[in-house]
Parts: sequence; structure tokens; C-alpha cells
Amino acid sequence: MDGEGLYYSGRVLWVVKSGDRLYGKVLDDYPYYVEVNGDSSFCTCPRGGDCEHVRAVKIAYERGFYFDCPGEEPFGEGCAYSMLNSVPELKWRVLLKELEHALETDESGSHAAKLFYEAFRLLEQEPNPRKLKVIGVLLNEYSAVFPDYAVTERLKSEFRRLRIRLEG
Ligand SMILES: [Zn+2]
Repeated sequence: MDGEGLYYSGRVLWVVKSGDRLYGKVLDDYPYYVEVNGDSSFCTCPRGGDCEHVRAVKIAYERGFYFDCPGEEPFGEGCAYSMLNSVPELKWRVLLKELEHALETDESGSHAAKLFYEAFRLLEQEPNPRKLKVIGVLLNEYSAVFPDYAVTERLKSEFRRLRIRLEG
């Protein structure tokens, strides 16, 4: 997929502008981190920069899809998530994208498990039956791939606990 394709299929998770630099995270076959500094760029993909991920981040920036972050930190991720935390709906959408991507690509299930816990935490803060249902569907997918994992049982029981709480 080229940069336009990545952008328009919603695979740019977030973009951060910090001083003259842009940082971004793009979900392709793996999650990649991008840094753009004027004409030079760096990406954690095998091409290392000047790639479709860099292009996707630039398009997102041109469309106004970015956070302004003061200070510099490696790849801007901490700032991106603290900005996302202040916009729960956006945070939820980013988390869902990451979770769906992890279910497709995460061979160990470990990253996906961590994302489920984050989703549970968000649902605990802001109970929402529709969102709980979405997570339930994803959790079924997860248990089909990792049926024997201890973490699968823990996730399922956490989910049941949340469902009882939400449904009263
Ligand atoms: Zn790249």
C-alpha cells in the first residue's frame, strides 16, 4: 500500500508535531514509527525512511491531523498518548485500531493482551455496552487463536466481570 492508501485506510494512528519535527505511528504489516525533520526522514521499517509510512504521516499532517507537542522525546509517543487521553473518543478509536492490527499480526498474543487490558480500563472509566460488545467480539477472536494461554482465561474472566458490572 502506498502513502495515500495507508492514510485513507486509517492506518496513521497519530501524528505529533514537536518544534520542526513530525513524529507518527503507522500500522502496516507491523507498527512503524516515523520521524520527519525538514527534508530528511527516518522510519523503523526496513527501508528506513523516505517510504510510504513517511508519506502517510506527511499527508496526515497536511490534513491537520496532528497534535502539537512541546519538548522533544523519542518518536513522540508519550506525548501522543497523553493528548489522546484527553480525548477519550479518539483514544478509544486508536486503541481499537491497534487491537485489530495486533490480532492480525501479533504472533505471541502478548501485545494484543496488553491492549485488551487497556480497553477494559477505558470501559471501566466510561462504561458503554456497545463498546463492550465490540471488545467481546475481538476477545472471541483472540481466544480462538490462543485457546490454551493462561492470559486468555484471565482476559475472559475480566471481561465477564465488566459485563456483569455494566449489565447490572
Ligand atoms: Zn517506512
